[in-house]
Amino acid sequence: MIDVERIVANSIPLNSEGSHVVYWMTSARRSRWNHGLDHAIDLANEANVPLIIVESLALGHRWANDRIHTFVLQGMIDNRKLFESAPLTYIPYVETKQGQAAGLLRSFTKGAVAMVIDDYPTYMPRDVAVRAMETGDCCVIAVDSNGIVPLRTPQRSFTTAYSFRRYLHKNVLGFLAKPPMAEPLKALNDLPDGKAIAEEAFARVNVPITPYEFIWRVAEASREGRDALSYLDIDHEVSPIDSTTGGSVRARTELSKFIEQRLDHYHVDRNHPERHGSSGLSPWLHFGHISSFEIVDAVLKHQKWNPMKVTPPHNGRREGWWGANEGAEAFLDQVITWRELGFIYCHQTPNHAKYETLPDWAKQTLNEHSEDERPYLYTFEELENGQTHDPLWNAAQMQLRTEGFIHNYLRMLWGKKVLEWSSDPKTACEWLIRLNDRWALDGRDPNSYTGIFWIFGRFDRGWFERAVFGKIRYMTSASTQRKFKTEDYIRKYADS
Ligand SMILES: Cc1cc2nc3c(=O)[nH]c(=O)nc-3n(C[C@H](O)[C@H](O)[C@H](O)COP(=O)(O)OP(=O)(O)OC[C@H]3O[C@@H](n4cnc5c(N)ncnc54)[C@H](O)[C@@H]3O)c2cc1C
Repeated sequence: MIDVERIVANSIPLNSEGSHVVYWMTSARRSRWNHGLDHAIDLANEANVPLIIVESLALGHRWANDRIHTFVLQGMIDNRKLFESAPLTYIPYVETKQGQAAGLLRSFTKGAVAMVIDDYPTYMPRDVAVRAMETGDCCVIAVDSNGIVPLRTPQRSFTTAYSFRRYLHKNVLGFLAKPPMAEPLKALNDLPDGKAIAEEAFARVNVPITPYEFIWRVAEASREGRDALSYLDIDHEVSPIDSTTGGSVRARTELSKFIEQRLDHYHVDRNHPERHGSSGLSPWLHFGHISSFEIVDAVLKHQKWNPMKVTPPHNGRREGWWGANEGAEAFLDQVITWRELGFIYCHQTPNHAKYETLPDWAKQTLNEHSEDERPYLYTFEELENGQTHDPLWNAAQMQLRTEGFIHNYLRMLWGKKVLEWSSDPKTACEWLIRLNDRWALDGRDPNSYTGIFWIFGRFDRGWFERAVFGKIRYMTSASTQRKFKTEDYIRKYADS
């Protein structure tokens, strides 16, 4: 039974005479540890009707590009295999014309018991769920499979990680006690086949079912794959990343490697650009190929943890609460506290990607310094092409362009310098969103807006006042280079 705080529905009741249950998958793109899938299975079992899963990839969003398409289609190949032997109908669907997916979604709601859809607090998946609830012809239920804390549960907002940690210390064990099913497909009854119903839903709106060969070709990320994508009206300049393939299988492999090889040193190595000390899981987390519940479960099992190890008081301290080792404590703080701080904020603040949502103290201090002379001023194109005077910054930007990722510590520096080198803070904020969301595999995520707006003071406090930044925290490439070895990093990306 799913926690009621994880679901929100339109006003149409369940149709007990309906012919099928459809799960429209947009952000929790996985077959395990998925509250949305659990709920769809419950509904289909109860009504004894076919369960149809449509994993949809739309093209009518601002940052649609070859990089995102390839990663998602690679995930579809995994899902097809993982769903293959289950008594359900899985359809990976790639939109080929703008607006087509919306018509198809509505077609699937006709005659359905219910539609389950992913509830995500930002960007395209959020808009799709809202539209589905407004226009669907059946009961449409948005299910929150985003993290450990249900988005709707906290009855208050959090302005710092510290205040959220205090809340977590008091409540997180209760949330961890209600995980989604690790292997939900085992709970499926032997339901009737939904293939004919699915085909009819496509035919009714004259939308072709995406040929598997297309998905397979794109997933190969070869020249043929790029050729196949060239027919779609998306950004082809942002190319796929050969070394980072999408899908739940790769996500789980990366998780195991991280836990076995790097977790114990995470607290030390995480900030060193040359050490590859973090999990690297953000792209798979972003597309829902892996759940943070699964990650936390694996970390806690590795620590042989049980709730008796928790050490009171529940006072919001960063370390020493879980009773795990230092590496695990530091990692849990990122993957739960920092990740979910942003998810909850985005849920509570629909216009979270607007400069105006910064805290008043931050806007005021930035405003007071908006006329200060900037040490360097670059155009957007110079920044996007990594053409500044600063080799470390350029290397970070080139890593973003070529690998779809920037090391976390450098990501902070990267953002701070855009604030320093742009004509005014609002422009800097818009440019950072453009750079990050266009090129980052993990972009367009609540974490994107946590990270970018942290650059401008959200979830942070005031520091010493200085030019341009005012009281906003300041960072320099020189001090980063003193703290960490960066020569190899710069060399690696200089010519990319
Ligand atoms: C300017 C800027 C932009 C950013 N843009 C993004 C983005 O587009 N997408 C994104 O996922 N993260 C973003 N971050 C946050 C952070 O840099 C990445 O989450 C992290 O580097 C991902 O690497 P990892 O998976 O190896 O993290 P790990 O250190 O292994 O952490 C595990 C997970 O915890 C979460 N996490 C870690 N650090 C943070 C953080 N500071 N804030 C929120 N969640 C965190 C992520 O989900 C991450 O995958 C941004 C940070 C900054 C300063």
